Amino acid sequence: MHVVRDLKKIQDIGFASRLDRKKLALVPTMGFFHQGHLSLMRWAKENADRVVVSVFVNPAQFGPGEDLDQYPRDHERDMELAKSLGIDYFFMPEADDLYPQGFDSWVELPGFSKKLCGISRPIHFKGVTTIVCKLLNLTMPHTAVFGLKDRQQFLIIQKMVNDLNMPVIIEGRPTIREHDGLAMSSRNAYLNPAQRESAPIIYNGLLMIRHEVLSGRTNCRQLEDQLKNYYLENITGSDIDYVSIVNSANLESSSRAGHGDFMAVSVRLGRARLIDNIDLYQAMEDCAE
Ligand code: AMP
Repeated sequence: MHVVRDLKKIQDIGFASRLDRKKLALVPTMGFFHQGHLSLMRWAKENADRVVVSVFVNPAQFGPGEDLDQYPRDHERDMELAKSLGIDYFFMPEADDLYPQGFDSWVELPGFSKKLCGISRPIHFKGVTTIVCKLLNLTMPHTAVFGLKDRQQFLIIQKMVNDLNMPVIIEGRPTIREHDGLAMSSRNAYLNPAQRESAPIIYNGLLMIRHEVLSGRTNCRQLEDQLKNYYLENITGSDIDYVSIVNSANLESSSRAGHGDFMAVSVRLGRARLIDNIDLYQAMEDCAE
């Protein structure tokens, strides 16, 4: 595995792959790998000739007072894990190289970025789209792989790529969970034992709502209220950021749960802000089969 820090060097690698007609897959991450990250890398290995994994804790997507400095990091372990999966290039750029003095170009999707997580994190997605755009320009991949745990991020990136005619396929992969249903996340490291014990309630609640939809209850406001109450009753010390049923085409709120809808939640548990989501339409389609 080659460890690359230099921007020019990774761009040469990307350009050479295009010239050689080799499929290159990019897996962008902020590091501190868990099985969710590894599942994206495994998919990339199986579906591309060469794989670049990037590890960069992107300062531009953290707002003032957020956890940029505390964000967990372990580059040595990450490198060992990536190497064990046969990753070809481990790209670890420096913030000063990506955002040199005078940097002033941003990619922004103001519509999609103001909803859900964007309400409490107003600059977050502007930072995400800008860094992903830069990573795509630097690696010129055939495919870039993202997790559906961050469903809003995935939809925003897919829209950016479509809107800007960027020559890359965006692949979304399913959420990998702990045995008790908690979605894996680097931020789970912030949970104390009591918080860790109650964290699976987040996903249990989503399953409960999916079950309600399967049973024919489709009034979204009622379903959202039901889930909020369930969290308030079952997770002590939780602070609900949002609970929302939206359509994946435009992230607009739905009034009746139907095709293309998913339920997304963000709950603060101590220092951790945990997000998760579930498809509601898939449940209905499964039921129709
Ligand atoms: P992060 O390092 O948290 O920025 O995540 C890097 C990539 O891994 C993103 O595309 C995430 O959506 C994805 N990811 C994070 N957690 C999971 C998970 N539990 N299952 C699948 N993919 C994940």
